[in-house]
Amino acid sequence: MNGHMTIGVLSLQGSVEEHLASLSLCEAVTPLPVKTPEALEQVDALILPGGESTAIVHLLRAFGLFEPVLQRAQDGMPVWGTCAGMILLAKELVDEPPHFGLMDILVRRNAYGRQIHSFTISDTIPAFSPHPMPLVFIRAPWMERVGPEVQILHTWNGHITAARQGNFLATAFHPELTSCPHIHRFFAHMARTALD
Ligand code: GLN
Repeated sequence: MNGHMTIGVLSLQGSVEEHLASLSLCEAVTPLPVKTPEALEQVDALILPGGESTAIVHLLRAFGLFEPVLQRAQDGMPVWGTCAGMILLAKELVDEPPHFGLMDILVRRNAYGRQIHSFTISDTIPAFSPHPMPLVFIRAPWMERVGPEVQILHTWNGHITAARQGNFLATAFHPELTSCPHIHRFFAHMARTALD
């Protein structure tokens, strides 16, 4: 591989355009919307965006993408789930069955409660950048527990909001809604290393 990569964004529902725009700021990355199994075959790595996880799962099945995405991920394709995407990646969900079950994390949906559906904080996540960045939480989930293979990258108020397990990255917040492409760059680097 010459370092150039195509990174897909699952384009069924949620913050798709924003992820594509953030990826376009990354060097040597071609962003590609993924809505079909054919498009999935073109990508080296995939972002599962935020949105509504139940709607995304429904559409994944309707578009014949659930099994192909799962298969590619099991075969080693790097996957980053943001918010609803993190819910899709989880091996366990509180009070409901899991979806892809790829990452050894226990996730609680809508964890911050109905009173505060959305809020933004500023914090430094050394794995991504030495500088503080805005972290946007929208009806966000958190991770209640992670398995031994999972590296915790960020916690806030005692809850895990970013983690990595091998080729899988999960963030409870929405980096694509800020003008900081640090985590997109991190994911591109992570994917490039995995694929080299
Ligand atoms: N609350 C949503 C869900 O449960 C996730 C919110 C988001 O992706 N911003 O799927």
